[in-house]
Amino acid sequence: MRTTSRCRAAARMIAAIGVVSLVAACSGSGGAPTGGGATSAGYPDQNITFVVPFSAGGPTDTVTRMIAEPMAAKLGTKIVVQNVEGAGGTVGAGEVARAEPDGYTVLMHHIGMSTAPALYQNLGYKPLENFEMIGLVTEVPMTIVARKDFEPKTLQDLVTYVKANAGKVTLANAGIGAASHLCGLLFQTAAGVKLQEVPYEGTGPALTDLVGGQVDFMCDQTTNTSGQISAGEVKAYAVTTPERVKSLPDLPTTAEAGLPKLQVSVWHGLYVPAGTPQEVVQKLSEALKTALADQKVIDQMAKLGTAPVPAENATPQAHRAKLQEQLGTWAKVIADAGVKAS
Ligand code: ASP
Repeated sequence: MRTTSRCRAAARMIAAIGVVSLVAACSGSGGAPTGGGATSAGYPDQNITFVVPFSAGGPTDTVTRMIAEPMAAKLGTKIVVQNVEGAGGTVGAGEVARAEPDGYTVLMHHIGMSTAPALYQNLGYKPLENFEMIGLVTEVPMTIVARKDFEPKTLQDLVTYVKANAGKVTLANAGIGAASHLCGLLFQTAAGVKLQEVPYEGTGPALTDLVGGQVDFMCDQTTNTSGQISAGEVKAYAVTTPERVKSLPDLPTTAEAGLPKLQVSVWHGLYVPAGTPQEVVQKLSEALKTALADQKVIDQMAKLGTAPVPAENATPQAHRAKLQEQLGTWAKVIADAGVKAS
């Protein structure tokens, strides 16, 4: 990040975790932290911040924290995870787009990177131009889940129920362009209904409200919902991938449950600001590959219904190709649905 945003980030972190010594790094003239700069020599010689554009405790945050530790070990530094929530992930992404291109500010983002340009008129960044891609991380199935005592018992029941009660049913999401929003959009299109949507800054807090009965249902990644599904704290209708998820073997696919067009999985990737030196990009990409081959990461992901991408996809080239393809795909879906954020 530029000095000011890096200091704002540090200030937020200080507030969140009470680390007083960080104040020194931002006080005085300019407040530049020591070392680093936009050169790659000696990289990394200070902590790296991983920005998660959604709430702590949600699925994007969970995946980020899984890989941060082995990446930090490989890079020989500390990685600090910072949540910069808002507007379906676009606030955090914008902050990283404007950060210093020195490899010390890294963004973890998901499919939302490819949907935002079609949804937000004043986005303030261009995904392909304002970022360097580090590599893909994982592709996570989504689940359709409801509060435990929600009446519909199956996905077909859910469709019938929401059609009959469209005015009173609430659908949670993590803001416009978030994966939960897109999946909800696909659900409403498939069901031919328009529902009342309740936006959160991440699906971590949305799931808490779902368990508490404050909202009726939502779509969210298995990396957030698996625990509550297995514990019976939420009602689960289906998984949105062509195959069932091994860790949730009883959950039917949307195709099996009667909505074959409702297919979506949530790909994630790491980004740094455009202009970051290529050696730094390569170092981060190598560290990502190492993390994705880590048995602990593989096991944690498997427990939550997902897996690391193959090593050849944890590269800037594969990531850029995926983003390019997804920008086109979602621009069409969003135009067809006639949705806009503002
Ligand atoms: N799963 C969320 C989404 O709907 C984001 C999050 O909270 O990680 O995109």
